Amino acid sequence: MASAMDFLPAFLSGMDKKALRGVSRRAAENPLTLQEQLLLMTRRANAEQLERAALQLQLAAALRFTDELRAQADDSDSDDVSCTFCGRRVGSLYRLVDDRVVCTVCYDSDPTLPAVRSYF
Ligand SMILES: [Zn+2]
Repeated sequence: MASAMDFLPAFLSGMDKKALRGVSRRAAENPLTLQEQLLLMTRRANAEQLERAALQLQLAAALRFTDELRAQADDSDSDDVSCTFCGRRVGSLYRLVDDRVVCTVCYDSDPTLPAVRSYF
């Protein structure tokens, strides 16, 4: 399908073509040349890559922080085992069915304590 642009050069002199090119450039929505547009897009892409790298660093730091918090929570769970009556941490401990932790001395001295769920 032939367009008007196919026939236009036959009616235009060299000066007309240059004048038309100048007018079309000024009338265009984006008056930049292709080289200028390419430079602009490259700069924008570089800026977005830098922003992406910064976001990746932030994400990695946040994930590390989350892992540290999780590790601390795990540590505190395992370290926070002591007798609920005397606070003793050493020796054998019982975990009762009501989730309290009692040392063997306290458990033996109090016959009203509930059954033992686990022993460690
Ligand atoms: Zn105790």
